[in-house]
Amino acid sequence: MSNAQAPNADLTGPAYWMPFTANRRFRQSPRLLERAEGMYYYDVDGRQVLDAVAGLWCCNAGHARPKIVEAIQKQAAKLDYAPSFQMGHPLAFELAERLAELAPSGLNRVFFTNSGSESVDTALKIALAYHRACGEGQRSRLIGREKGYHGVGFGGISVGGIVHNRKHFGPLLPGVDHLPHTLDLDRNAFSQGLPAHGAELADALEALCQLHDPSTIAAVIIEPISGSAGVILPPVGYLQRIREICSRHGILLIFDEVITGFGRIGSAFAAQQFGVVPDMITSAKGLTNGCVPMGAVLINEAIQDAFMHGPEGMIELFHGYTYSGHPLAAAAGLAALDVYQEERLFAVADRLSPDWQRAAHALHGLPHVIDIRNYGLIAAIQLEPRPGQSGQRAFEVFERMFREAGILVRVTGDIIALSPPLIIEPSQIDQIFAALADTIRATR
Ligand code: PMP
Repeated sequence: MSNAQAPNADLTGPAYWMPFTANRRFRQSPRLLERAEGMYYYDVDGRQVLDAVAGLWCCNAGHARPKIVEAIQKQAAKLDYAPSFQMGHPLAFELAERLAELAPSGLNRVFFTNSGSESVDTALKIALAYHRACGEGQRSRLIGREKGYHGVGFGGISVGGIVHNRKHFGPLLPGVDHLPHTLDLDRNAFSQGLPAHGAELADALEALCQLHDPSTIAAVIIEPISGSAGVILPPVGYLQRIREICSRHGILLIFDEVITGFGRIGSAFAAQQFGVVPDMITSAKGLTNGCVPMGAVLINEAIQDAFMHGPEGMIELFHGYTYSGHPLAAAAGLAALDVYQEERLFAVADRLSPDWQRAAHALHGLPHVIDIRNYGLIAAIQLEPRPGQSGQRAFEVFERMFREAGILVRVTGDIIALSPPLIIEPSQIDQIFAALADTIRATR
């Protein structure tokens, strides 16, 4: 399509370098949203678009919820900004207490950031500094996983395992290893819920411990369910085994719950759903229902305690952001937690997951579909790529879903990922998967 024909091309000037986007292709055929409400976006042409991904896995209570909007408006007029170093404001303390109540037991200390990436880098830095504070400064190695996504900071891409996100940026952090990912289509394709096979992949951690000497390893970071690499689920027993190995060797376990937090899979956090308690949890996105950028690291109090033994008046951790605990974000976070709790949204994924699973797996047998994966209110449909054209077929499905079916899904590589707001109606579940089935059938 030439620029002259492109709808809305006059709205998409060259100045904005869009993140994680094929910028040249986008401008040939822009997708521009103008407003949102509840389950729906509306684009600049006034078309209604059903949101099947909660924005980008963040608007768990749906869009423009009045309670959250009002809280942000009021706060902006009352206290727009408070310095975050050596000064505080009550809402940040209140939000931290509320998060500590929601967190798995023991993780009752909260460090605020502005994004998932910052939460990850914060957690990695806390892990390294913690071991030093304990007199174990030789623990400096970090372990992530192949296909892991931990944001875009240098720490995050070092422990992350998505090749494109790493390969253009030089040598990254030293002393990082990667465990194998757990996607195994030979043994687990079309599993419903957690895959049965693969718990033994956790033993690669024990092998790394033997290779390096476990007393050199600071932390392991894992997404309980990875999203950005295309919804990779933990095999039954896998996370338990990782936890056991970490505990045995004094290695901190960090769960990156940027997408799994705040009700996505049926509990406040995946840690509770899977019955495995890490030492830290990184979060963002659903924390404010996506309304204001904010992240948080939930930290076991014993970790914080290790920093609290120096002389009083000394800064315990030399780390933080100008906008840590920002008043508008804290107000949005408190209001979002109210909405989640008043509407019991963390219980929704469990309640709807049988319908969700049935609807997703009804696509089994369609052309190009080589796997369907689901857990809670997450699903992925993996398509066979056209030879030599990795990702193109899935991108076409995404594009047609948006333009023709009026449904926003997420495309990542050859995978269509779904993670709707938790206010979704059963009829909308059917609508999404019926449209996906038609679209996949119509895609060459
Ligand atoms: N960790 C995980 C598991 C994520 O899914 C993401 C974002 N999708 C991030 C970290 C990074 O979050 P942000 O884009 O807010 O920096």
